[in-house]
Amino acid sequence: MDARPILIAGGGPVGLITALALTRQGLGVHVFEAERRINDSPRAATTHAATLEMLDDLGLIDEVIRRGLVEPRFRTWDRSTGKLVAEFDFGILKNDTRYPFAVQCEQHKLAGMAIERLRAFPQTTVEFSARVTALSQSCDGVEIEVATASGTRAVKGSYLIGADGGRSTVRKSLGIDFEGYTHPERFLIITTTFDISSKFPGCTRNYLSDPEDWCALFKVSGDDGKGLWRVLSSTRLEQTEAELFDSEAVESRLQKFIPKAGPYKVVHRNLYNVHQRVAASFRQGRVFLAGDAAHVNNPLGGLGLNFGIHDAVELSGLLGRVIRGEAAGDILDLYDRQRRPLNIEFVQQQTIANKKRMEEKDPAARAKNFEQLATIAADPAAHRAYLLRSSLLDSARKRAAVFA
Ligand SMILES: Cc1cc2nc3c(=O)[nH]c(=O)nc-3n(C[C@H](O)[C@H](O)[C@H](O)COP(=O)(O)OP(=O)(O)OC[C@H]3O[C@@H](n4cnc5c(N)ncnc54)[C@H](O)[C@@H]3O)c2cc1C
Repeated sequence: MDARPILIAGGGPVGLITALALTRQGLGVHVFEAERRINDSPRAATTHAATLEMLDDLGLIDEVIRRGLVEPRFRTWDRSTGKLVAEFDFGILKNDTRYPFAVQCEQHKLAGMAIERLRAFPQTTVEFSARVTALSQSCDGVEIEVATASGTRAVKGSYLIGADGGRSTVRKSLGIDFEGYTHPERFLIITTTFDISSKFPGCTRNYLSDPEDWCALFKVSGDDGKGLWRVLSSTRLEQTEAELFDSEAVESRLQKFIPKAGPYKVVHRNLYNVHQRVAASFRQGRVFLAGDAAHVNNPLGGLGLNFGIHDAVELSGLLGRVIRGEAAGDILDLYDRQRRPLNIEFVQQQTIANKKRMEEKDPAARAKNFEQLATIAADPAAHRAYLLRSSLLDSARKRAAVFA
């Protein structure tokens, strides 16, 4: 076996899960993370059935469930009338998966769990404050430049995985286009300690569609397990960060969505650019792209990190087989051939449709959307089919069929 480590740029959840999946096969890995510590800003939490199955295989499932919140349902509301449009229940998938629910587990917890597991394996290193700044490759290896507080050094490895997020240095260094578009508006997440389930009982994942001001309401367990609610909404193009983060503006935004007596206690305000982009290729020679470095999407449906974890599992499986000599190097082509179209078919298409449905302005189209959702929810076969797709079980099965 190749004694050189596999190099990973980026110690976000995808880089760390990839490292864990490789390390558990006995392979040596060196992860380089530019920042001093794990980024704990509020981003992914919703973890779907197909991903939960993979996290089970990686020995993480018990802790993900214990430190997250299990939620079998999600609901779509018409915010302008206050009417429930449809309720979906992953319980209908009880014969399709061991995990017929979503788990709301914040992504920084998942990254921390992976690091914790990696400590038991001496062949793998996770290095913080180490930024990958350049790369080169030959037919039998890769070399990267890493900038640290003590200077820049060169590191050699067998392969390089760029898991360095949407602005990926690895992707840019390879000259790979990030095809797609950026939404003009930004999304704002406000995190509050107020228990929104007092207003929306029985379900901790709620989508409130509205032609002017839609929002999504999610509960996460928080670091202390006491529970926090995230309120995700869109912003207007002319609004600056200072205006959006202003305490009065935040309070009136929350009161508009969920009126209540007394002020809200707000613990975070975060503003995100939102994109729909897919790299023109997920592989160039010995260098691969995974997670947000390869594809980005809007967060409605909670699919981006889920798909990134599927990348991690897929890529580590292929690399393991090649490095152990069980398969020829050309099976690595499958990574790009499979993952790229799957991302477009399952992640890009669904998240674009979800956003359109949330913000639809045309009354006739809104009514049609709602009618369709209600019809799907009321028909068990259609309900199951809809959830197989939105939980990424369909995407995982389509990929598994290639290897069958
Ligand atoms: C508001 C919001 C809500 C979301 N909700 C969900 C959800 O519920 N479910 C879901 O599946 N997805 C969700 N997503 C998407 C999810 O957050 C991302 O898909 C996920 O962060 C991707 O993980 P990653 O490891 O690929 O990239 P990142 O999390 O961006 O991590 C990349 C890491 O690489 C490091 N890095 C960057 N450049 C370098 C370099 N040159 N050298 C070394 N290190 C480098 C960065 O510091 C960072 O730590 C959401 C996103 C947003 C914005």
